[in-house]
Amino acid sequence: MLNIVLFGPPGAGKGTQSERLEGRYNLVHLSTGDIFRANIKGQTELGTLAKSYIDKGQLVPDDVTIKMLESEVNNHPDADGFIFDGFPRTKPQAAALDTFLSSKNTEIKMMLSLEVPEEELRDRLKKRAEISGRTDDADPAIIQNRIDVYRKETEPVKEYYEEQSKLEKVDGLGSIDDITQRLFAAIDNN
Ligand code: AMP
Repeated sequence: MLNIVLFGPPGAGKGTQSERLEGRYNLVHLSTGDIFRANIKGQTELGTLAKSYIDKGQLVPDDVTIKMLESEVNNHPDADGFIFDGFPRTKPQAAALDTFLSSKNTEIKMMLSLEVPEEELRDRLKKRAEISGRTDDADPAIIQNRIDVYRKETEPVKEYYEEQSKLEKVDGLGSIDDITQRLFAAIDNN
């Protein structure tokens, strides 16, 4: 199995690049943000809970997020591998993922971290707001909060994978195609 964590701050291009990796390596793409948004749209109980955090640019609590992710993985028993996009976002989520995958006799192969400077992120999110319809993209204060939460709670997850020698940093600047090629190379050379 090929299990990859695609990591990076909001606006780094995780969703766009995940779609390309998914096709090339025949992986199931699991985006926790997309799953939360689908639940919000479907007006589920989980959606209502998630919305109260997402609209403020805060993280949804670990226990809820981990449970949801595990059930999504269990829904794909025949997968050749997964690309985790937007998960794990905290060290406890990373530890829970390791425990869960090892109970299934598999593991994370690598974390690909898209490296993008903060100025560029703000620009990209502003542009994305015009087309995404995402409420959390529309307000500069919420965008800033998401970036702050990323720095404080999510960026340390890199250390978690670095300690396991699984961290691979990838330059996230340039054309979408160029970045895709860098990601392919990082996976193929691993
Ligand atoms: P994203 O689409 O990955 O930018 O996620 C949108 C929002 O969903 C985030 O700002 C969080 O509020 C929430 N979210 C997504 N993934 C997670 C996660 N792994 N842990 C906690 N909250 C999450």
